[in-house]
Amino acid sequence: MDCPRDNVEMVELSEGEDKLLTRCGECGGLFLDVADLNRILLHAGLPTLDAMGGRANPEEDVGDCPSCAVNLLAVESSHKRDPMIYETCESCGGIWLEGADFPKEGETAAELKSGIVDFYREFSARAHSKPAAR
Ligand SMILES: [Zn+2]
Ligand SMILES: [Zn+2]
Repeated sequence: MDCPRDNVEMVELSEGEDKLLTRCGECGGLFLDVADLNRILLHAGLPTLDAMGGRANPEEDVGDCPSCAVNLLAVESSHKRDPMIYETCESCGGIWLEGADFPKEGETAAELKSGIVDFYREFSARAHSKPAAR
């Protein structure tokens, strides 16, 4: 699977027996399955992605899914000035996280997983801090 940003081959990271996520060594972007993400979120005591809030922004051009090469859809937290953004693929349900959006220090699956938890903890807090503007 190639990174949608830099077209380099991404690296698969596993936790135990399971493939957990795919990471680009170039930009630090992460791609993972929504089922795996929900498992991580629930384990951390967070709501699943569907219950997380946030709003889709079809205006945002965020590139293609590394798995099925259809356009990704950006989902933003409702924070006005500096919304947090993740991208989702409506075809395969995959989640793309921009490398710039969470700490890059992590290299192992466990470290990256805790970075993902931090990202969504903050996303969830912002998404629920006030009603989404319409
Ligand atoms: Zn990349
Ligand atoms: Zn996809």
